[in-house]
Amino acid sequence: MGTKRFLSRFFTTASIMLLTASTLGAGPASALTTSDIAVKSQAEMILPERDAMHKLLTNVYDSTSYVNAGNTNYSLNGVSASSIKLLIERFESEGEFANSVAARALKTHMTALELYEKQANADKIVKHMNGFLVLLEQQHSKQLLSGTAYQALKDSTDEMVGQWDTTFSSDRAMTHLHNLSIGIGPRVTGTAEERQGVEYIKNEFEKLGYDVSTQEFKLPDLLTGQLQITSNDNQNVRVAIADGSGYTDENGVTGQLYAAGLGTAEDFTADAKGKIALIQRGDFTFWEKVQNATAAGATGVIIYDNVNSSTPILPGLSNKSSIPVVGITKANGEDLLSQMTTGEVEANLVIHADSTRKSQNVIAVKKPKNIENPEIVYVTSHHDSVAGSPGANDNGSGTSTVLEIARAMQNVPVDKEIRFIAFGAEEIGLVGSTYYVSQLSQDEINRSIVNYNLDMVGTNWAPASQLYVNTVDGKKNLVWDTVSAASKKLNIDDGVLNPYQFSRSDHVPFHDAGIDAALFIWMEPGTARMEPYYHTPQDSIENVSPERIQTIGDIITTAVTDLTSTQAKVTEKAS
Ligand SMILES: [Zn+2]
Repeated sequence: MGTKRFLSRFFTTASIMLLTASTLGAGPASALTTSDIAVKSQAEMILPERDAMHKLLTNVYDSTSYVNAGNTNYSLNGVSASSIKLLIERFESEGEFANSVAARALKTHMTALELYEKQANADKIVKHMNGFLVLLEQQHSKQLLSGTAYQALKDSTDEMVGQWDTTFSSDRAMTHLHNLSIGIGPRVTGTAEERQGVEYIKNEFEKLGYDVSTQEFKLPDLLTGQLQITSNDNQNVRVAIADGSGYTDENGVTGQLYAAGLGTAEDFTADAKGKIALIQRGDFTFWEKVQNATAAGATGVIIYDNVNSSTPILPGLSNKSSIPVVGITKANGEDLLSQMTTGEVEANLVIHADSTRKSQNVIAVKKPKNIENPEIVYVTSHHDSVAGSPGANDNGSGTSTVLEIARAMQNVPVDKEIRFIAFGAEEIGLVGSTYYVSQLSQDEINRSIVNYNLDMVGTNWAPASQLYVNTVDGKKNLVWDTVSAASKKLNIDDGVLNPYQFSRSDHVPFHDAGIDAALFIWMEPGTARMEPYYHTPQDSIENVSPERIQTIGDIITTAVTDLTSTQAKVTEKAS
């Protein structure tokens, strides 16, 4: 059970402490204390008041101006010291504490924390919340408070630390990775599981208080096909559907097989008309074979391999065929030929195109306060994975890291817009990111300065000890400048980051739009080899290294914070 759910239930079902409407409209929320809150019974409340109350209690510091210059864009969501104090009082009144001394000790902590909150002193808040947690654990072990009260206060504490702690935590990232790679499992493009991943990511971004949206887009048609030998007890023959194949209706095409050798024009006689041509791979292109078959009036083409393989040959056509075309293995082709020596062989070939499939990008936006048309920074990953693989490193690792960076930065005041994005359908050809960039306005593209794309950032494969910073053109850009500066600041060994030329991920469309972009991926120094678990069932959480997640998380969080934070700039000027 999460704190937020607890709080909302608490404030809507118990007797409610309600702020009067006039107080709600009376300026900065920070000016309010619990004594401003009048007690009203639930019966006296109307729903909008309840909602307003809940919003107020969970956004105590929204719109607060701080003593530190420039810190006007804090926007805390979730719990605060005051709301935790209210929770303690509530539990005390309901007899969840063994004595008032225990409750008072906890409240005293929160009084100190209220002051640190007003000062926006993140370091002190995190430190003192950790002290509060120690005390809470002690009271729990001495049974000074109920299990319910302990759990709710612990959840609130964790959430409040999460709001203020600006350091990247691989522990938190690994929790996301567990939920994605084990809780959901393979998140194949266009499937219900990919959609579950989308819901998870969206919910996590929303918990952090970001402005979150999902962007749906159409996927290329998914072709499914079936070849049955109707003259041989409907024997099923495994096929690979040619890229560029024609489609059939649900009944498919049925006809006698016609042995057409290599498929030259001379291999076809008038007899081929209305039949399905069986053609051997080799000598000239698949497309030429298909053209010859089509010209002879064949209703379909089956191409069999000329070398042994356990999987059917996948014919790639240079154009779109008007008739269905599939590939089969050499063994299956030869078996059909031998069936043809004893009589007519009839087959049914069905190629179905599913054009209804969709995928989604999830976009969380952090906007600077009081800045018109800010520059835009993108921190991205893809959330889909391939069939049969839990997709832990590829790319639960990148997505979990982006979620944790978003958490660490949730209350950092910024002067640029940050867009945290998890793309769908990367694995079938960068479909989500290409769509996303295609939908940006020219104005947005002009304001876009940089894209950090994280894809496979957590392998534990020992030789992959170098973090490659891959650009499409192999040139260093703003991504490189900011991450190499961050890495120096973090005292990370000089040899860890490696500039390199590599495409094949979601940084490509950003680069193509003229935006400085790079892909982060752990690979072997010198060889650029990737982990052997790539796209296999072994791409599981056991093969992900929390230490490497920590390294990339530290680097990107520092780089993006230094690039966007108003505080970082104030500190720099002062020093
Ligand atoms: Zn990937």
